Amino acid sequence: MLAPGSTIGILGGGQLGRMMAVAALQLGYRVIGYAPEGDNVAADACSDFITADWDDAAALTTFAAACDVVTWEFENVPLGTVAALPQHLLACPPRALEVAQDRLNEKAFARDLGGTPAPYARVESAEELAAAIASVGTPGILKTARDGYDGKGQWRVRSAMEAGGLTFPGVTCIYEGFVTYETEFSVILVRGADGEVRFWDSTANMHEGGMLAQSILPAGAVVEAQVPAARALAAKVAEGLGYVGVLTLEFFATRDGPLFNEMAPRVHNSGHWTIEGAATSQFENHIRAICGLPLGATKTRFASIDMRNIVGEDALTAHTILAEPGEPHLHLYGKREARAGRKMGHVTRVGHALK
Ligand code: AMP
Repeated sequence: MLAPGSTIGILGGGQLGRMMAVAALQLGYRVIGYAPEGDNVAADACSDFITADWDDAAALTTFAAACDVVTWEFENVPLGTVAALPQHLLACPPRALEVAQDRLNEKAFARDLGGTPAPYARVESAEELAAAIASVGTPGILKTARDGYDGKGQWRVRSAMEAGGLTFPGVTCIYEGFVTYETEFSVILVRGADGEVRFWDSTANMHEGGMLAQSILPAGAVVEAQVPAARALAAKVAEGLGYVGVLTLEFFATRDGPLFNEMAPRVHNSGHWTIEGAATSQFENHIRAICGLPLGATKTRFASIDMRNIVGEDALTAHTILAEPGEPHLHLYGKREARAGRKMGHVTRVGHALK
């Protein structure tokens, strides 16, 4: 167990790191963050924050010297950065990053463990895209294999003709068949270093423009029926990776069962409701897991929960939410600029308490 007063290093400086740091502070730890130049809102909650490029060897040495354990809040931390750190500091094997950084890798990894992804093909050129469209069919989605998030690096392909008008992005891509689904849902689990796994309830997730907009509980009968199979896959993925901490898998609930979409080796936007809505939040259990503390109960505390993201300029008037009945829980991330399409905060509304 990591003694109180020890220092947790977090790679990445966004809102997930900020909320992780708040949980770490509550448990008596110090937090030092590390991220390249940017609007690093995690820094507000860290005792120290190193702003340096991912490949700055001197800065990484300084960071490592200050840490007793290192975790990440961002799955695209370069593998070279993690490899440059003393490996005994890493709470979780970096293989989790390696798999999750590439859509082709994560789909193959999940498929090998018995998961079912949407039909897909690897695409390296305009010619291969035409071949993928012919074999997988339309409609579909072309996605960059790496570095895409919140709907960025994705192009809908409605017909083979429409694909003709698409300029191939020039990096390795994946072409996926467009899935007809009832709902999207996520499985969020925490795994301790001793292999104990706990799951939170699965929310139904609504996306707008490829970005999560809302997560709700109860998720409905269709999702609930598919959660056991999805959890079984998530547990195998966690075990296969020797994972420690919070891991998220996203699924499409289809008429034929859960289709695996992607995984995030970290706390997740669709788990923000757990701060007020679960006995222990995803952030606290992540910290507990990486520090070797007993895991907390994950059970849901309310009959209904509704988490909505606050995006772009909506953040400028978000304080009016506080006057609404029902005690909504407002979280703002302290980002300097309310750009369109940028996650600025979230609000969680809860129904009556469960016994
Ligand atoms: P992703 O970055 O893969 O999570 O994609 C973002 C969102 O786009 C998903 O949560 C879905 O709402 C939508 N989407 C992505 N891939 C597909 C697909 N193959 N079929 C249908 N919708 C998709």
